[in-house]
Amino acid sequence: MKNAKTNAAPKILNGIPSSPGMFMGKAIVLKAETVIVPDEKISADKIPAEIERFNNAIDEVIREYEQTVSLLEKSHSSVTSIIETSLQLIKDDFLLQEIRKLIALGFTVESSITQYLDTQKQFFLSAKDSIIRDRAIDIENLKDRLLSTLRHKNIYYKIGKGTIVVAKSVTPTELVHFKEAGVGGIITEVGGITAHFSIMARSFEIPTLIGISNATSKVKNGSEVIINGYSGWAMLNPDSKAIGSYQLKKAIEEEHRARLSELRTLKSETQDGHKILVLSNINSDQDIETAAKVKADGVGLVRTESLIISLNKIPSEKVQFDWYLQMANIAYPDPITFRAFDIGSDKFSEGIPFHEANPALGLRGIRFLLHRKDIFKSQIRAILRSSGNKNVRFMLPMIISLSEVFETKKLIEECKAELRESGSVFDENMPLGIMVETPSAALMSENFAKHVDFFSIGSNDLTQYALAADRTNDLVLENFDSFHPAVLKLIKLTATAAQNAGIKVCVCGEIAGHIAATELLIGLGINELSISPSIHLETKKRIRQTNYAAAGKLAEQVLHCDSPAEVMELLS
Ligand code: PEP
Ligand code: MG
Repeated sequence: MKNAKTNAAPKILNGIPSSPGMFMGKAIVLKAETVIVPDEKISADKIPAEIERFNNAIDEVIREYEQTVSLLEKSHSSVTSIIETSLQLIKDDFLLQEIRKLIALGFTVESSITQYLDTQKQFFLSAKDSIIRDRAIDIENLKDRLLSTLRHKNIYYKIGKGTIVVAKSVTPTELVHFKEAGVGGIITEVGGITAHFSIMARSFEIPTLIGISNATSKVKNGSEVIINGYSGWAMLNPDSKAIGSYQLKKAIEEEHRARLSELRTLKSETQDGHKILVLSNINSDQDIETAAKVKADGVGLVRTESLIISLNKIPSEKVQFDWYLQMANIAYPDPITFRAFDIGSDKFSEGIPFHEANPALGLRGIRFLLHRKDIFKSQIRAILRSSGNKNVRFMLPMIISLSEVFETKKLIEECKAELRESGSVFDENMPLGIMVETPSAALMSENFAKHVDFFSIGSNDLTQYALAADRTNDLVLENFDSFHPAVLKLIKLTATAAQNAGIKVCVCGEIAGHIAATELLIGLGINELSISPSIHLETKKRIRQTNYAAAGKLAEQVLHCDSPAEVMELLS
């Protein structure tokens, strides 16, 4: 049957489900090419506004680059010099005038930038000298940066409530805008299920599909789409039968949610009375409200870099303090765990472009913080000042060596001394923990356990680093498997080290909320699961169905498996 309005036949596109839920709405296709028509012209009366649009984009990109340079110490010359080259390029009067001349001839900003910079790029590419040829990359980077800045400004106003965004990829910043605009679903061509964007989509409860190749060509702007974030398909031009079935499934989904809410006040413990805390992962301000509604046992992870993403800059100590204190008060008397800024990798690629060849293996997490002690110390002070009610815990990302913990402890002591001096109230014994998310931290967990108050296993990065599979790349999705026995052995090692040292061990990566993982993680010796508030009640339900002794036996068996497939067979 055909769609009654468009007379087009329904069509299914299969992808990877990265955020559950169903939604039906009109597609808005964000396609770079639709914005850039090479010889697109505008009428003469629009030229001044077009020049202004160009000038604003230039100012914004200059601001971003300058901010980056100021964030990186001069000593880090390899990174700053790349950005300084981009800055020189974008401040080049000749280049700017040439583009303005094209706009004055009536070409759109996007067309003028593309025409001029593509010609320049070809010129450099034809050079014999490889150093000159490399300039073509700088030109291409500048073009991408300018077009994406213009695209950000252009697209947001077009996106209405209840639309389904179809894009090649989506950045965390774009996602925050989509959430504010009331977007009902997202389809992307690339991405990974534990990429930061996917994690945020889940916590915003926006049904999302990734890995649909050429989705931006296959889906027509304005067409009707049903997205199924449970099974991983999208239906274009649904007919009346498909719409009926969608409405039925939505009603079942609502009913299921209502039934789950009865679990809110019940204890989170196994059948044989073993307490397992269900904590919340907070990726934005909105999450803390949801966490309060589902009655979490506390907050296991605040991704504090989300504040940077929403403000697009490193916030002042005062802004941070207000934000942390507000959250600590909402969580009180339950604990709240602030993780130090995990800048780098896919977390914060906009605003501060580091231009590293391998950002996941680069100046990320604790490495960035110890490199910029001024930023780190202002965050430590702000977090300490929010700890007056003694429910705040502090946690370090991307740890690989004990020296990183020792150096941080020294900084914490310096901050405490400064706060005592100024008469600020704080928790002298604020617990300090580490993320165990590198094979190094897991393998040395016994050593770390002597020096920290708790562990939190970041299974997303632990999987990425143990299996050498980029978490943001759908092409290696099959390799990226947190149920791989190698990852599970690292989790077991960490849990045992924590148990022996008498410290708590939490899992805050995405495996903690996986349907198949609850019993296994309990059996491996995990005390706390920190997950998106949207899946709390489902997880509590599974904990209440688990028998602690049986879970231990299951985990023993799983650790002897040869492959992820064998693990899944045992768990199913
Ligand atoms: C993880 O790596 O599992 C984790 C929880 O941290 P993030 O996803 O923010 O890197
Ligand atoms: Mg991580």
